Amino acid sequence: HVATVVSGTGLARQIHKEVQSDIAKLVAQGNRRPHLSVILVGDNHASHTYVRNKTRTASLLGMSSSTIFRPASVSQEEMLELIDKFNRDRGISGLLVQLPLPEKDVDGFHIVNIGKLCLDQRCMVPATAAAVWEIIRRTGIETVGKNVLVVGRSKNVGMPIAMLLHSDRNHERPGGDATVIMAHRCTPLPRLKELTSLADIVIAAAGVPHLITADMVKEGAMVIDVGINRMQDPVTGKLRVVGDVDFEAVKVKAGFITPVPGGVGPMTIAMVMKNTVTAAKNAPTY
Ligand code: ADP
Repeated sequence: HVATVVSGTGLARQIHKEVQSDIAKLVAQGNRRPHLSVILVGDNHASHTYVRNKTRTASLLGMSSSTIFRPASVSQEEMLELIDKFNRDRGISGLLVQLPLPEKDVDGFHIVNIGKLCLDQRCMVPATAAAVWEIIRRTGIETVGKNVLVVGRSKNVGMPIAMLLHSDRNHERPGGDATVIMAHRCTPLPRLKELTSLADIVIAAAGVPHLITADMVKEGAMVIDVGINRMQDPVTGKLRVVGDVDFEAVKVKAGFITPVPGGVGPMTIAMVMKNTVTAAKNAPTY
């Protein structure tokens, strides 16, 4: 038995096609071409890679984009001014400040938007949570009445994922109607093991390499790996990216599993594209 490996790259390709035809339609109707602006602070290598992936994808889909680089020494005042200026610029549909910021971890999510998310109102769903939601949906996995374990409670990943999955499917922003449990760094490992073994869907977002091992996972469960951990390969000495899940071992126990890389990552980028087009559609027409 081997789990179905759910390719985020493949699902992202589906979403790309949808977004691309959406953009073509918008432009054909005489609307401005959606534009994604990214503010990138400092020289964090991973951040530069993420931003390149986003702007490259944007152009492939027919969206224009621009990246504004600022040194790590940028002041909070200048950042706020930039964000304010871009928010008022009608040529910009979507604005993204790539996190983490080198010093001050400014919350990337507007309080009003998070408020709407928590009240099940229609809103811009944070891209990683939206990616996890779409992976479940497009794989055809049922969530209603199912046990979901979210490992990690960060405000930008774990929390919004749990928020989407536990809430009511009949609300304005439909939820997954699952029984959701959240584990975090204070959850003792034996307890984590109990919780994972009950879960129909495990979402690993802890930033701990190989935290989720095969013995913890229920046979046939869906395992979604949100972790992106850079690790030195003990054999080759090369840096490589691994998730929070022991992929090779869990693959032969789970029913569905997402790889790292090629799982949640490309889907997150696809959801940034979708959100930008949504923002372009929501923009007031003057
Ligand atoms: P991300 O933004 O990807 O969610 P963070 O580092 O902000 O990453 O958050 C990591 C989350 O994982 C935190 O909520 C933390 O409590 C949780 N976590 C860390 N270690 C463990 C662990 N050993 N078991 C369960 N949860 C953990």
